[in-house]
Amino acid sequence: MSDILEIIKARDPHEKEFFQAVGEVLDSVKPVLDQNPHYRQAAVLERLIEPERIVTFRVPWNDDLGNVQVNRGFLVEMNSAIGPYKTALRFHPSVNQSILKFLGFEQVFKNALTTMPLGGGAGGSDFDPKGKSDAEMMRFCQNFMRELYLHIGVNTDIVAGDIGVGSREIGYLFGMFKKLSNEFTGALTGKGLNWGGSLIRTQAAGYGCVYFAAEMLATRSMTLDGLVCLVSGSGNVAQHTTEKLIELGAQVVTLSDSAGYIYDPEGIDKTKLSFVKRLKNIRRGRIKEYVDNYPGAVYTQTDPGKPSNPLWTHRASCAFPCATQNEISEEDAYALINNNIKLVCEGANMPCTPEATALFLRKPILYAPGKAANAGGVAVSGLEMVQNSQRLNWLAEEVDQRLKIIMKGIHTTCLEAAETYGTPGNYFNGANITGFVKVVEAMIDQGVV
Ligand code: NDP
Repeated sequence: MSDILEIIKARDPHEKEFFQAVGEVLDSVKPVLDQNPHYRQAAVLERLIEPERIVTFRVPWNDDLGNVQVNRGFLVEMNSAIGPYKTALRFHPSVNQSILKFLGFEQVFKNALTTMPLGGGAGGSDFDPKGKSDAEMMRFCQNFMRELYLHIGVNTDIVAGDIGVGSREIGYLFGMFKKLSNEFTGALTGKGLNWGGSLIRTQAAGYGCVYFAAEMLATRSMTLDGLVCLVSGSGNVAQHTTEKLIELGAQVVTLSDSAGYIYDPEGIDKTKLSFVKRLKNIRRGRIKEYVDNYPGAVYTQTDPGKPSNPLWTHRASCAFPCATQNEISEEDAYALINNNIKLVCEGANMPCTPEATALFLRKPILYAPGKAANAGGVAVSGLEMVQNSQRLNWLAEEVDQRLKIIMKGIHTTCLEAAETYGTPGNYFNGANITGFVKVVEAMIDQGVV
């Protein structure tokens, strides 16, 4: 196995996030490889770690002052063994090839877990949406799509949002895609409800994450009702994780952004959450404004450069990291464990450092990796594709019901795979093994391509 990591290190020494994502999967799938020597003979690992295609491109655009700005665009098409690429798009200044290879790699296994015929990829730009006007956002999205549209399509690559790409951005991207391709097709998901979108798509990653947590708790005869929960982030996934937790009777006491976090000891109720949604999705403000409206809450500034985040020091039964990669350090993980945390369910992709993950796996807590717990987002994107093909819109209840069934199915599959390969209760191994076997079997069936 170390030979595979050596290949990555030698080829792309700066890609630390990708290295981390691959390392985590390799640790889990070792017993599968030991039992299936033909996987090694077919060089599946060597093939899995090399994206099928990477495109980088220039994105010039005009800001509101008429200046020309230039950003870098990327598309990493990781693996299409089980279906057309389903690509997550991220706009954030930290975006680079390593981040997108990690996201694309995660996406391959996550998409396989949904049981839908979807490959995996990731794309985006180092463009920073913060502080941009709607007009600037539109011009950027249009120029980004001028290149992206050459590579995407309903049977090749279907793109959806991730950090910094929400419904406003999908609208601008879709408008330009439609104009350039002269086609109204479902090559993007997360569309508006009156132009091809699916009900529950916006909510799906967060709701699905909570459904997964509820399934985990049920294995210990527990429910979310009355449990105190820590949620990080305040974007799409954090908002809808919080929404479903409130609905199921849990008490959410934290939310954050990259500048700091709020702690509300009385709990964030529906009204307070509506305020957060308006603040973040419409006014595009900062989470610290929460305490101006709700003085019972406390705002604490955080420093992403520090090795720990005080958000995770609050006493709670459950933690839902829903912001970004590597947001829970080993120190944070110890804080959670010392406070007797019962469940950690990842809404974000790879939010725990390898040291934090290793600690959670050593302890008798319920711990779900993002590729299983947040798969609801891509699953409902898949359902949006089905509805687009049928030219039909399903009712919210129908989509939600299907989402619940999918999350329950992923939960069961993860537990079964973990048990089969000798690590009962280990969702981390179960998720990696299930996704890996499905993709690798398809690759072997299709020959060396
Ligand atoms: P959003 O852009 O809606 O929200 C991201 C949130 O995370 C914001 O609160 C943001 O704060 C915070 N954040 C971003 N970068 C950092 C950072 N470096 N340090 C601290 N906080 C940060 O994104 P989503 O909610 O869509 O995505 C959140 C996570 O969930 C990501 O890991 C994403 O990959 C994953 N995910 C998303 C899915 C989706 O359908 N959208 C599906 C599955 C997973 P700020 O505003 O200050 O930047």
